[in-house]
Amino acid sequence: MEALVLYEEISQLLTLEGVEKKQGRHPEQKDLGQLENASMVVNADSNLIVWVGKGDDLPSQYKDLPHRFSGKDQVWIPELVECHTHLIYGGTRHHDFALRCEGKSYQEIAAAGGGILTTMKATREASGEALVEHAAKDLARFQKFGIGTLEIKTGYGLTLESELRALEVIRALSEHAAMLLVPTFLPAHATPPEYKGRTDAYVDLICAEWLPEVAKTGLASFFDVFVENGYFSAQQARKLLHSALDQGFKLKVHSDQFSSLGGTQLGIELGASSIDHLDHISNEDIRALGESKTVAVLLPGASLFTGTPYPPARELIDAGARVALSTDYNPGTCPSRNLPLMTTIACTQMKMTVPEAIAAVTYNAAAALDLEDRVGSLTPGKEFRVCTLDADSYEALPYCFGEME
Ligand SMILES: [Zn+2]
Repeated sequence: MEALVLYEEISQLLTLEGVEKKQGRHPEQKDLGQLENASMVVNADSNLIVWVGKGDDLPSQYKDLPHRFSGKDQVWIPELVECHTHLIYGGTRHHDFALRCEGKSYQEIAAAGGGILTTMKATREASGEALVEHAAKDLARFQKFGIGTLEIKTGYGLTLESELRALEVIRALSEHAAMLLVPTFLPAHATPPEYKGRTDAYVDLICAEWLPEVAKTGLASFFDVFVENGYFSAQQARKLLHSALDQGFKLKVHSDQFSSLGGTQLGIELGASSIDHLDHISNEDIRALGESKTVAVLLPGASLFTGTPYPPARELIDAGARVALSTDYNPGTCPSRNLPLMTTIACTQMKMTVPEAIAAVTYNAAAALDLEDRVGSLTPGKEFRVCTLDADSYEALPYCFGEME
């Protein structure tokens, strides 16, 4: 019994037990598992939750545990899960933003040599050490916002060497971070300049050489592709995703950000863990996502920052989809690491309820990473990963907008 630790008198705690039971569909207030004056027993060796409930219901075998701490005046919710970031990059994109403020579109800036390719150049030129240092600062900032699990995509190198270097940077960060990091290989983020006008040849190269090579290293869990006009077509994505599946990767798809090209149907068909963006999802695809296990990851910070329409969260949730929220942290379209702020934008601009927003940055975000059996809720058997709010209720998370740390 030495390894057991008792946390008691926790003023308010959310287990998300009901959200877990419904697998994240239609989350309501009653599903949050709200407890007042809660207790929790944790196995300090395994870092797993052994028991959680009202203090009055604490089983007698835990009543005299010598290792005990008080959670008085604290609100505990599951540590937040950030399920979509492009965190490994060099340089900045302040100037793109300034151009956009003068009326240039994302596509116009990219066509003029800015956009993703500016970041690609800076990323290729940056040393491994510089990338680690830059990324470590970002992780520290994410941690301040209560995030304990975080996905990181490659996709700013776009050569095999620099993509592998980005994955090695993620592994190096994992060795030191208290956070659980999830690496995603995204070589199909854009066509590199070496393959300008020859995207099919670039797709073939990824399928034939890069995917087997990266699979061998074991450095990436997921494979992702950007389906969009001027990037990759649904047909090219199909080829890439099939190759990735053959090599043992789990799948993610960037789809429907600016136009609906079939990426969503494709992702559902191939059992992708998540489909991300969905700002321009069709009604037919909303219905299909509602019936699938695939998580809809919505990125309202990107819509806010680029001044484009918000994704139809209400329709997706009402159709039964499992909806997660993320920052989409990247230098071009959302340079913010403030995941709690995304819950505010989701509530005010996308008409999500507070319980839906809470589920979207915990359980459903974990499901987008296939980690819902480990993190995203505070029930027995889950990892002891807690976000402590300096507030008197969990409702402060979206309410104190931009300020919740
Ligand atoms: Zn993205």
